[in-house]
Amino acid sequence: MLLAPYVGRFAPSPTGALHAGSLVTALGSFLDARAHDGRWLLRIEDVDEARSVAGAEAAIIEVLGQLGMHSDGPILRQSERKQRYAEACARLGTYVYPCACSRSEIALSSTLRAADGAPLYAGTCRQGLPPGKSGRSLRLRVPDAPHDLITFNDRHLGPCQQALASEVGDFVLRRVEGYWAYQLAVVVDDAEQGVSDVVRGMDLLDSSARQLYLQDLLGYARPRYLHLPLVVNAGGEKLSKQTGAAPILPGADEASRLALLQQAAGFLQLDTVGADSLAAFWRRALQSWRARWVD
Ligand code: GLU
Repeated sequence: MLLAPYVGRFAPSPTGALHAGSLVTALGSFLDARAHDGRWLLRIEDVDEARSVAGAEAAIIEVLGQLGMHSDGPILRQSERKQRYAEACARLGTYVYPCACSRSEIALSSTLRAADGAPLYAGTCRQGLPPGKSGRSLRLRVPDAPHDLITFNDRHLGPCQQALASEVGDFVLRRVEGYWAYQLAVVVDDAEQGVSDVVRGMDLLDSSARQLYLQDLLGYARPRYLHLPLVVNAGGEKLSKQTGAAPILPGADEASRLALLQQAAGFLQLDTVGADSLAAFWRRALQSWRARWVD
């Protein structure tokens, strides 16, 4: 069987600067692509336009470039791809239905919790909108148990599974605000960019089953997944703009860039000790990544 060529990606949301956590994901995805002699694509996930911060996209691209990570193809922006998401959604046909429920109505009608702790959608609009109500969002029907179990193999965590009906519920594809949901955008983009391998943070593990389900419904090939451990702050919280993560700001000198890369590589348990130049760092990091993650 002919294997699909390796295509990896790093897909930051431009909600703030790159920080120690997102740098680890960028580095892991970049090394994995290089270790497979594959391509590495940068994609700007600004589908939720209200959360985009002016200047963040340019700053992310610049810092990655300063550290030696350049996209091997055009940089895709989700805000420019709404037509593609609309077309994919249309292809899902009757799996998609309009939902009139507000957040508070969902909370009131739900007695169960989804895996992420949010109230599990009770399926109120599944059989049609209640009289007098109009659709606010679009939801995707998930199969009823026991046909709702999604299983996959993560390169780091091994066998994983999620029961969509009880752990997620019918999920949103187009939000009340009119934006396409991350789950749909990421699946369409990964497929259209030919992404064979998704390397990203563990915080997105919970999204994988939804994405696999969408891939299956849309007839896309399933990529392989590798979810990396998350960098957390002293309080055990994932680093993010909300938790006050410090922006990565490489200096103009090689030593400061090297130090930032060494720190991210150390978190990934890559042995780059003693690398005294960027060229030496990349050699050592690649060797170490290969030994750990590529069979
Ligand atoms: N845009 C997402 C984030 O910044 C990453 C999505 C993905 O890698 O699938 O958290």
